[in-house]
Amino acid sequence: AGHVRFEDVRFGYDPDRDILGGLDLDVPAGSTLAVVGPSGAGKSTLARLMYRFYDVGAGRITIDGQDIRDVTQASLRAAIGIVPQDTVLFNDTIGYNIAYGREGAGRPEIEAAAAGAAIAGFIERQPEGYDARVGERGLKLSGGEKQRVAIARTLLKNPPILILDEATSALDSRTEAEILDTLEAIERGRTTIVIAHRLSTVVHADQIVVLDGGRVAERGTHAELLRQG
Ligand code: ADP
Ligand code: ADP
Repeated sequence: AGHVRFEDVRFGYDPDRDILGGLDLDVPAGSTLAVVGPSGAGKSTLARLMYRFYDVGAGRITIDGQDIRDVTQASLRAAIGIVPQDTVLFNDTIGYNIAYGREGAGRPEIEAAAAGAAIAGFIERQPEGYDARVGERGLKLSGGEKQRVAIARTLLKNPPILILDEATSALDSRTEAEILDTLEAIERGRTTIVIAHRLSTVVHADQIVVLDGGRVAERGTHAELLRQG
């Protein structure tokens, strides 16, 4: 499950200005689509439409053939996990930050179990002793650690569709590389849409779409796009 399609999707925040102009995307279940392109191209807008923060102006978005407007908000949230660029954590424990909003969140043993499961099960190559640190306060974490918490939070619901909206863009390149490694393992078997600003971070994607001014400027694999220059 998790076949995502955009069919001639148009959208503008203002009715007289299209941000996405007739976008077609086909992301087979379990595959990875990377969306790259300059700032303002409409990449985050595309992610917001999938989560129905906004509805398409024309065309449709489907998951496994079903128009997302016919899916309940609860099912949509269960199906899609988003990791944003800047994670704002509560000044509370890592466990709380991973488990808030989840059933049973707020009970310390559930938070600890949730955080433990998320970190041990999904985040490989965690820094030494990371799992023993679920009681630490979120505000003390580094940017990379915060993003790991955000990823663990998203993965706790085990979504078949994962959207990474510049999830590592704000990090230094070594931390970014470490987290990209972790993410590659996590993406396996999930439909993944990776929004990135650099082609070099999405080498492994099954298909790459270069968005410019809300339109597809180029599409292909990493090797194909390099060949086209
Ligand atoms: P990207 O993620 O590629 O940088 P965005 O999807 O964030 O691009 O933005 C695409 C365009 O939509 C930009 O021109 C931006 O200014 C505009 N935009 C983004 N969010 C809003 C909003 N909430 N209201 C109006 N315009 C917006
Ligand atoms: P869930 O319980 O599925 O995690 P949340 O309500 O916590 O649902 O939000 C889902 C994701 O959407 C979170 O990662 C959150 O950071 C992200 N998000 C919330 N608002 C926006 C927004 N305006 N644009 C992009 N992402 C957002």
